[in-house]
Amino acid sequence: MSVRSRHPVCACPRCGYPLNAATAVNDDDAAPEPGDVTVCCRCVTTLVFIEGRDHLGLRLPTVAEGDHLGKDPTIARLKAALISAARKVGWELE
Ligand SMILES: [Zn+2]
Repeated sequence: MSVRSRHPVCACPRCGYPLNAATAVNDDDAAPEPGDVTVCCRCVTTLVFIEGRDHLGLRLPTVAEGDHLGKDPTIARLKAALISAARKVGWELE
């Protein structure tokens, strides 16, 4: 996996990990926009990009969004890949 887009640091709202990069799963040249979904590489929580004051921020999904995103096979595969990669390097997920 390679980083395709850098963005100003925004902390994961669940674990506080500073996130400053994203890789699009469907379009290698895409940069994140408000409403796009991502997964924290530290705690594997699904997150949603939001418009911040100066740059993008992140929030947890609403319950309805979480229900929908929990059934998304792309997100499930991404989370499984992150967990597998963390185990290979001995990185303990939060
Ligand atoms: Zn996190």
